[in-house]
Amino acid sequence: MVNKEEPSLEDVPRAVSLTSLLSEGDEPEEEFHDYEDIPNGTWDDIGLRSPSFSSSLVPEVPPTPMEGLPSTPSTPVIKVGWLNKNPPQGPHISSTARSYIYQKRWVKLDSDYLRYFDSDKDAYSKRFIPVSCISRVSGISDQKFEVITHNRTFVFRTESDAERKDWMQALQQAMEEQRRRAQLEPPCPGIPDQAGNLELRGVKNKLYVVVAGDKVLLYKNLEEYQLGIGITAIDMSVGNVKDTDRRSFDLTTPYRIFSFSTETELEKAEWLEAMQDAIAEALSTMDVAEQIWADAPNRLCADCGAPHPDWASINLCLVICKRCAGEHRWLGPSVSKVRSLKMDRKVWTEDLIELFHHLGNEAGRRFWAANVPPSEALHPSSSPEDRRHHLEAKYREGKYRRYHRFFGKQEELDKALCVAVTTTDLEETQALLGCGAAINCFSGDPEAPTPLAVARQAGQRLQMEFLRNNQTSEMPRLDPVSLVEKHYSVIQPTVSHSGFLFKTASVAKPLQERRSREEFSRRWCVLSEGVLSYYENERAVVPNGEIRVSEIVCLSVPPSDAHGFDSTFEVYTETERMYLFGSESRDLAREWVRCIAKAFVPAHAEELLCRDFERLGRLSYKAGLSLQRTQEGWFALSRSELRVVFKESPSEEALQLRKLQELSIEGDKEVLVLVERGRTLYIQGERKLDFTGWLGAIQKAAASSGDTLSEQQLGDSDIPVIVYRCIDYITQCGLTSEGIYRKCGQTSKTQRVLESLRRDARSVHLKEGEHHVDDVSSALKRFLRDLPDGLFTRTQRSAWLDTAAIENEEEKISRYQELLGLLPPVNRATVKALISHLYCVQCFSETNQMNTHNLAIVFGPTLFQTDGQDYKVGRVVEDLIDHYVRVFSVDEEELRKQREEITAIVKMRVAGSASGTQHAGDFICTVYLEKKATETEQHVKIPASMTAQELTMEILDRRNVRIKEKDYWTCFEVNEREEAERPLHYTEKVLPILHSLGTDSHLVVKKYLAMEAMLMYLASKVGDTKHGMMKFREDRSLLGLGLPTGSFHDRYFMLNRSCLRLFKEIRNPKQHSGGPENSHKPEKEWPTKSLTIYLGVKKKLRPPTCWGLTVVHETEKRERQQWYLCCDTQMELREWFATFFLLQHGETVWPSEPSKVVRPAPESRLGSVSLIPLRGSENEMRRSVAAFTSDPLSAQSPP
Ligand SMILES: [Zn+2]
Repeated sequence: MVNKEEPSLEDVPRAVSLTSLLSEGDEPEEEFHDYEDIPNGTWDDIGLRSPSFSSSLVPEVPPTPMEGLPSTPSTPVIKVGWLNKNPPQGPHISSTARSYIYQKRWVKLDSDYLRYFDSDKDAYSKRFIPVSCISRVSGISDQKFEVITHNRTFVFRTESDAERKDWMQALQQAMEEQRRRAQLEPPCPGIPDQAGNLELRGVKNKLYVVVAGDKVLLYKNLEEYQLGIGITAIDMSVGNVKDTDRRSFDLTTPYRIFSFSTETELEKAEWLEAMQDAIAEALSTMDVAEQIWADAPNRLCADCGAPHPDWASINLCLVICKRCAGEHRWLGPSVSKVRSLKMDRKVWTEDLIELFHHLGNEAGRRFWAANVPPSEALHPSSSPEDRRHHLEAKYREGKYRRYHRFFGKQEELDKALCVAVTTTDLEETQALLGCGAAINCFSGDPEAPTPLAVARQAGQRLQMEFLRNNQTSEMPRLDPVSLVEKHYSVIQPTVSHSGFLFKTASVAKPLQERRSREEFSRRWCVLSEGVLSYYENERAVVPNGEIRVSEIVCLSVPPSDAHGFDSTFEVYTETERMYLFGSESRDLAREWVRCIAKAFVPAHAEELLCRDFERLGRLSYKAGLSLQRTQEGWFALSRSELRVVFKESPSEEALQLRKLQELSIEGDKEVLVLVERGRTLYIQGERKLDFTGWLGAIQKAAASSGDTLSEQQLGDSDIPVIVYRCIDYITQCGLTSEGIYRKCGQTSKTQRVLESLRRDARSVHLKEGEHHVDDVSSALKRFLRDLPDGLFTRTQRSAWLDTAAIENEEEKISRYQELLGLLPPVNRATVKALISHLYCVQCFSETNQMNTHNLAIVFGPTLFQTDGQDYKVGRVVEDLIDHYVRVFSVDEEELRKQREEITAIVKMRVAGSASGTQHAGDFICTVYLEKKATETEQHVKIPASMTAQELTMEILDRRNVRIKEKDYWTCFEVNEREEAERPLHYTEKVLPILHSLGTDSHLVVKKYLAMEAMLMYLASKVGDTKHGMMKFREDRSLLGLGLPTGSFHDRYFMLNRSCLRLFKEIRNPKQHSGGPENSHKPEKEWPTKSLTIYLGVKKKLRPPTCWGLTVVHETEKRERQQWYLCCDTQMELREWFATFFLLQHGETVWPSEPSKVVRPAPESRLGSVSLIPLRGSENEMRRSVAAFTSDPLSAQSPP
């Protein structure tokens, strides 16, 4: 048998004409069937993602070739070569009528498929025929042979009899092998994730396209799909999908672009989602699945026996198939916690995998399925109803379990559990728990009170893992007779309520669109005995449906205009369903919400019901000192306040969402992180449906909710973040700008700044060079002018104006103080911050021409929202600035600081003009020596020309630090928030870096320990490029908020002087000696110079190794992207970093003679002034100014 080597995919030319794939020139025209008119409605439903939902809708699937798809690496090619082929024939066509047209085809046979290609260069076949579909292979005249399937015949012609014999033998062997395998392991009907007709550009008829697992398969039509005969399979590990048009999208692979079109936008969204999932699945490694499947029993579904189960119940310790997983999910996480072997990588810790080796399907069968009557057993093809019935009996009722000898004797069960967990006998623990032993029973030992603590004491890692996964499990009850009452056994206050409501069908996905009135049906609803039932009418006896109150996890009240009914509310259940109710009357709806809430919220959290809420429910969280433990808490969202009753605290606590320091989503929308001053709360998404709703609601509540001052995101001292950002920026960059606040910015730019600040001020960082001071000052004015109620409020406005007319100075000041006290807190804080700022601005009037009077002319009409006709508006502003100290009771310390700041800036301005250079941009900045601490602070004036090395020398010099040989003293930019730092190259200019520093960054001068290793590496290296694998993680923007998500994946990188390239996949790296240069196009590419590389990756992102890099990429449009790299070893990290360092900064990474560096001559007028540390003030102003002790100018106190 000739076994030619498969051509490497990389060798395939990229420009293969699109039509060659599907131009069926070799097929008679009548073979084209347009199956559009086939009633295929049922197939359209398959796209539903929720397994519990789709399984009930999926029709019995024909035997399709899902489980060993073409080109899977596990199926090596048996035979390959050129053959002549004539078009396929139906059995009804007599052999004499057969066409004599033959075409050369590159044919490949592996154990699962016979495929043929246009040429040996093609990545995508023209046809694939499953070996299992071939019924016979027979030789015919003229060195031809036929491959016969039950309704198609494919004829191939060989060059010689010997060749024909070879091919026939190979085919027959493959068929036999296939049959043998089928007997051992019946083929599993695969369920497509998405299937349907799609238009493919360049092809006349619609194709039947199937997304299954990590493949996209193309079939000519539904019939061929059912037969299993397809065109080609696209391996999504090289795929990428891109939205191109309203109804079109591209599936891009290195070899070809497939442009698909759908009928509707909605349909397109479904396809995109399905294909993206397929990519995710292709990229997820099989590691976990392979490890779990190492035990033979784990290779068949624990419940129905289907092969290749890739889901698991992590508390029951069972490996199950996708269909059973759907039903497990329906049972709820308290019975079975369902996770994917392939996608939920994070849950698969070593302990959990090991636990599956010890328990797994074998032990699970012995315990849970000890007494299954054959009539009730499941098969791979069992219907969804049978599955649900069986699984409910099995795990909820414990019907088939093996009874433990202590069954029914609680005390003995508990005692036995405490003993079992000290041993390696996991099966015993499983049996005890499954028979009712209490997982948190008291062990009798106060030192280790629970079984978990006992196991920990005994060092039983796996026992601990098992117990932890079952902490919240609901095991079958002791007494099977009382099962019926189980759901009602939770003692709830008996709330009763009844009346008519309008109801829509329940859904498993979040509602995307408005539900019109017509979509609701009138139902008689009764809340009683812990069940909310709905009936056709008030006389009906049998309910149309019911919701058990104990299963309600969340209650939400959408805004009144959300749906066709003015008042609606949503009920979310444990089983991931959402019920929407509507009412004609607002009061009636409120009453229902109150009653349902009362029925499902436990007594200890009833406090939450005292106030109106938009959303109420239970969620899992981690907080405070018990971060390792997930607990359940009760949450209520009222406007921007999230009220919580935590498990361990007696009363509710409130989080002000608009005052959060951080709000982010970790993982794949799984954990919501809320950082408040001094505390962090992690809310975990146990269930997808209600959690998605919570996410949206909390994010919305944390954003500015309107235009009034108190609706803004607020900073520490109640100043809206938006105001504060502008003031801060002007203080840094605009104090000496001529006509500041008087000059107008460009309208479009002002608008843009204001919009971004309004959207999420917390995330906006204004930068010099990017934002002009006049644009920012105009944005601030615009914001203040547009405040719906004005800064001084509508009601008090005239009182302020009247005060301006008071002649007696003392009386006037005390009246202003009085009025200030009457303002709402946020307004008061804002007025103070603003006047304090204007006070600073007028101190520079010599330069900026904005004295108090001028500022008053500008700000009077702005703050009082008038046209400026009334002189009094300006008068008020002028008074407030003039009497700033007294009106706002500025205390001594505050005043001193303020003066110091101003005088420092004045001084610098004077110094600058004296030396004849433009020094307005000079900064005095805080730099630390070795580490950030008060005692290591140094304040250095940074002229525009100062390099990192000059700064380093300056600091060392001041502290009298002597440089020894091989002490690589370097200035680092440290970003505390990102937990990353960057050594500055010695030639880098410090000033631009200072301008770009965020508030959580600072500069430190310290020794760079890795420098020597880097220098040695660079010295030994030939060339200045580097290639290799790193783990890559990108932050994709979530919900447009720029929140991080995603995980690390292996990628191949090539770095050279011009750019850094990323390759998604290097296939068969051994096959091409020339390295990856000849591989396909890079997935991404960045200019080397546009990257800023930091050492370190923040822990929150769970980097796979501790040798990480945080990379910031600034695009030409000044958009910032951030992503992460991880190396396997420290050496790798140093090599990469050294290469970046070298490529970005030119020839050398370290000066040859550092001590001889030219230092700027000390400023003559500043040189003698000793610097004092400036305390880190709350208002971020610190980095723009410095303070001097003895300052002649401080005598110039404000008027
Ligand atoms: Zn199954």
